Amino acid sequence: MDDKRTRYLRQQIELGGAEVVLDGWAVRRLGGSTADGLRADDRTPPMLGESGPVTGTGLSSSTQPSSPTAQPLTPEPAKWRKDAPPIPGPGLTVRPPEVILLDDPAGQLASLDEVAARISGCRLCPLCEGRTNTVPGEGNPRAALMCIGEGPGANEDAQGRPFVGAAGKLLDQILAAIECPRETVFIANIVKCRPPQNRKPLPEEAAACLPYLHRQIALVRPKVLLAMGGTAAEHLLGVKQSLGALRGQVHRYGEIPLIVTYHPAALLRNPNWKKPTWDDVRVARQLLEA
Ligand code: URA
Repeated sequence: MDDKRTRYLRQQIELGGAEVVLDGWAVRRLGGSTADGLRADDRTPPMLGESGPVTGTGLSSSTQPSSPTAQPLTPEPAKWRKDAPPIPGPGLTVRPPEVILLDDPAGQLASLDEVAARISGCRLCPLCEGRTNTVPGEGNPRAALMCIGEGPGANEDAQGRPFVGAAGKLLDQILAAIECPRETVFIANIVKCRPPQNRKPLPEEAAACLPYLHRQIALVRPKVLLAMGGTAAEHLLGVKQSLGALRGQVHRYGEIPLIVTYHPAALLRNPNWKKPTWDDVRVARQLLEA
């Protein structure tokens, strides 16, 4: 950029323009922290929980003015916000798990990699006998949103990764729709080995595996937890209540707000649950901004 343009853009930003476009250059002020106050728009959405608001100008070159008249842009409101339900009232609060974990060996694991390594050799319950791979979970280690499912299925067992089958594809779509693409979140399960015939994990299997999840949550320190399905809700909140009774409230896992919703696999079986799920995840999404 020549000096004249740079000066012009700097002036626009100083005058309060959040974003100006000039001859194909989109320049945005990012919290005033850039070295020179100017930065080309790289169109990469910031990771939730990291610095920077979720933005996206959606400007194509054909819509950019070619005259030197700069125009401040008002970002379009995200689609998920339209008719999003209000944040509901408080629900259950569970004891901060760090306290529970003080005597637990999993509580000493210093990183997500260490947790995954420990899980890979775990023989604490009989589920280890049938596994091809452990499925520790994956994602952004500093995710603002952490999604918890039940346990690996056949695809996950084969690949060692969570939510990679049909339910995973649906989860990816849900996450994209609330502008939290999969790579920005952390995804884990109550149990890290596949239960036979995809049955629900037994209480003793879940109990053996839960310290790993508690440790993962403590390491990621998400801003919001999303419990997907009754098994995740039951074991995270430590109560046996129907999903219907647990939805529609903001529970607390220690300090962290926890939202309960349907499991993506349940949505594949019963599409009527998609709308309530959409409402739940939009509540979770709003909590990320609270
Ligand atoms: N269902 C789950 O609960 N977890 C997975 O990882 C995949 C399917």
